[in-house]
Amino acid sequence: MDRGLNKQLFDRARECIPGGVNSPVRAFKAVGGVPLFIEKGKGAKIYDVAGKGYIDYCMSWGALILGHAHPEVIERVREAVGKGTSFGAPTKLETELVEEIRRAFPSMEMVRLVNSGTEACMSAIRLARGYTRRTKVVKFSGAYHGHADYLLVQAGSGATTLARPDSAGVPADFTRHTFVLPYNNLEMAEEVVKKQHESIACIIVEPISGNMGVVKAKEEFLRGLREICHRYGIVLIFDEVITGFRVSYGGAQEIYGVKPDLTCLGKIIGGGFPIGAFGGKREIMENLAPRGAVYQAGTLSGNPVSVTAGLATLRILSREKAYSILKKRAERLVQGIREHIGKLEIDALVNQAGSMFTVFFTREKEVCDYETALRSNTEHYARFFHQMLAEGVYFPPSQFEASFVSLAHGEEDIEKTIGVSLVALERLKN
Ligand SMILES: *Cc1c(COP(=O)(O)O)cnc(C)c1O
Repeated sequence: MDRGLNKQLFDRARECIPGGVNSPVRAFKAVGGVPLFIEKGKGAKIYDVAGKGYIDYCMSWGALILGHAHPEVIERVREAVGKGTSFGAPTKLETELVEEIRRAFPSMEMVRLVNSGTEACMSAIRLARGYTRRTKVVKFSGAYHGHADYLLVQAGSGATTLARPDSAGVPADFTRHTFVLPYNNLEMAEEVVKKQHESIACIIVEPISGNMGVVKAKEEFLRGLREICHRYGIVLIFDEVITGFRVSYGGAQEIYGVKPDLTCLGKIIGGGFPIGAFGGKREIMENLAPRGAVYQAGTLSGNPVSVTAGLATLRILSREKAYSILKKRAERLVQGIREHIGKLEIDALVNQAGSMFTVFFTREKEVCDYETALRSNTEHYARFFHQMLAEGVYFPPSQFEASFVSLAHGEEDIEKTIGVSLVALERLKN
């Protein structure tokens, strides 16, 4: 296998880009080895610079639910680019995308478009603070809401201790207003909220977590959060940057039947282009500038190319029986891997939510929060990952990320992946 070209490009990139990458996980640090440099993608497959094809389960971290280079999306994008790539002035397309988002997410009465999921979460939290005139933020450990300073935090020593910075360059002062609590632990959240509610502006939560690997929220947990937020006038924010249009057209909130006050979106709604969105109750959203006093802006926000790709993607998703197909394919794949795990008696389990899943190499009976996720054997994941890669299957290069099935993954891809996973899992036995 010729990985030499990838290595050459990685060495060259490392000379001028820190770590050789523009986002850390891409560097393969968690699994070792040299990252693939991608030449092109088509359908379920990516091709590296050495010309080798891989069935892709990373799918641009879940952004590409239709697969790579979907012909209809590409066609629309070509048309859009021909008309100009950015105006910094309103377009009809933006309203069309927002109207479609509202159809899917009735809780999002008003929406603002931004350029990334990070911006969406940052802006939603600023808005919640402006609206409530409170400062504190509650998040859950293992969740990722982008890289705003005060969100790059690790839990303090007790439930009511405030968070400590999790990155150099973040002053402790900046994380003083963030509480980090264990995921799926309603009691702890209730305890903190009861004591501190007068200063808590919002609770932000991934209703299905994708960033510690796939971990579903328990229904009581989300219902309980909804209840305490309602009782104490705290803004409940669902970060559906991954799950929005992924686990169903209306996101995780449709599945759980829990209505947040604000929702953050990203990934899928850009059809493979940079985008983010946040929205929710009109009463809250109207506090945004220029209507209200909470400032938020962006040179390329609502970019016509991103919006066009997003709209084309959503139209395809709403038209076809997308979600039953996605679920069927993912269930088959997960069932296949689970059977191998069972037969080989390997310490592993698979968490799944619709078309997203994670194979955890663990002795735990259940992975339900960050604590249990962290007990995974990351060395086993790395070996599994590299064996899959050698056989032409690209999983995300970290144990603590979600894998994604797209509409482009055919039955053949799934069966091939199941077959390859048997070999990879068998190798773990020796
Ligand atoms: C990816 C992600 C973000 C950040 O989005 P970017 O576009 O990478 O800034 C925020 N929240 C969740 C849940 C995500 O998965």
